[in-house]
Order: sequence, then C-alpha cells, then structure tokens
Amino acid sequence: MNVTMPPGDGASLRYVQHYLVFLMSILPDTHPLINWVQMHYQDMDSFRHDFATWQHPTDATLSPAHGIYHLKWLSNVTSAYFKAKKRNPVNIELPDACFIRQKNRNEMPWAPLMSENFIGDYKVKEFCGIYSPAAPPALPSFGNTSPPNAPPPLPDTSAPGERVANLYYNAGLFDVFKNRGNSGTYASRMIRNKINSGELPPLPLTKVDGEAMCLPFHVKGMCNEQCKRKPDHVNYNSNELTKLCSWCTANYPTGTGN
Ligand SMILES: [Zn+2]
Repeated sequence: MNVTMPPGDGASLRYVQHYLVFLMSILPDTHPLINWVQMHYQDMDSFRHDFATWQHPTDATLSPAHGIYHLKWLSNVTSAYFKAKKRNPVNIELPDACFIRQKNRNEMPWAPLMSENFIGDYKVKEFCGIYSPAAPPALPSFGNTSPPNAPPPLPDTSAPGERVANLYYNAGLFDVFKNRGNSGTYASRMIRNKINSGELPPLPLTKVDGEAMCLPFHVKGMCNEQCKRKPDHVNYNSNELTKLCSWCTANYPTGTGN
C-alpha cells in the first residue's frame, strides 16, 4: 500500500483512525484491541503537538519520520498481539497504550528499529526530504509481518456508508449499555423506532445543532457516514455526556442475561 503522507502534525493519527474502523468491522465490539486502539489514539492526539517536533536520538535526518516510527510501533505491537493470541488465546496483555508519550516524557527511547532494508524499501529518507523523491513516499502497512490470521493491511475506508468510529468513546460511561445486545430488540434501530413511536422518551439534544444526539455514536462507539445525526459525531466530555447517560440509565433496555 503506497500512500503519500505529508510530514505534518498528526498525520499518522489518520491511519490509526482507519485501522480502528477496520478492526471494528472484523472484531466483536467488546474486543480488547478496539478499546486499546481507542485509548492509544486519544493519548497520541493529546500529544500531537509535541510529537510533531520529535527528534530522533541518534540520526536527526530521520526526525521527520516520527509518524512512520509511530505506525511501525503500532504495527509491531498488534502483530505481536495476534501472534501471541494464536499461541495462547487467553489473557494476552497489550502494552501500555500511552507508551510513546510516556517514553517521550521521560526522555527514553521508544522508536522501533528500522533496518536499512526497510528504510530503502519504504523510501523513508526520500520521505524525510533527504533525497529528492523518485517515487511517492510509502508508509509501512499493517500486517506485513503478521501471521495468517491477523488482519490484512489497512483497508480503503472511503466507500460511502462506511462505519465511523468514535475515537473519544467514553467506555467508562457507556460500556454497560453498549453490551446490552447489539441486535434484535436491542439494536440501535429498534430503540430509535421506540423513540419515534413514543414508547421511549426523546434523546437528549446535542451541543451542536439542537437536534437529538446520535445514540450509536456515543453509546456503541460506532456509527456510519450516512447517519442523519452525523453532525453530532463529535467529541463530548464526560459532563456533556451526563444527560445521555441518564437517558440510557432510565430507558435503555436490559438485554437478556444482563
Ligand atoms: Zn450517527
């Protein structure tokens, strides 16, 4: 997969977002890796300004490749996770999702090794502006070093109606509701129908445009591009989510066995 990636602030985060949407489309909602990638995204986002000026400890010419180092780290971590899970499917620990920021804060090394072959194959130095680029700069794709049952490389997520992940999903508030059935009578669509028919009260209004909040985006952590309530697909803090949380507590049906 070849993609041009401007060396700008936060560029690698876009790929983390695509990767998360992809994981959500192949893994169950409650899979620990989904939560982990969300946490990692939020942590890196909080750090994007400092990260943009990251200096490579030994080779300053590689400093602009911070986004490539970031994605290589993520690729290494997820590959190792899927490999370990294949050997022993239970209790595989993921590393600290805040690893890169923590290491930077303590001025400790974090960037994975890039072999000369990797630097050559992926034209990392061309990307860093050391040579004039002969070809579009390339980015390591996820899954290059993965076992057969690991996710394939990053998918093209530009199709209409694609799923969108809530990168600021508040698991602390909503996991309890999220897990109350994703299908049948407890699907978001059924809840919406009950609201429309007056069986359930209306959802709280958004902070955005005075219309109803998007239930799946905030409660399930995922919605899609064609959602009528797409304007509400924005980051809310815990305070702003209180009303929706109370609505769920009062009205969200308890699934069988929950
Ligand atoms: Zn929505």
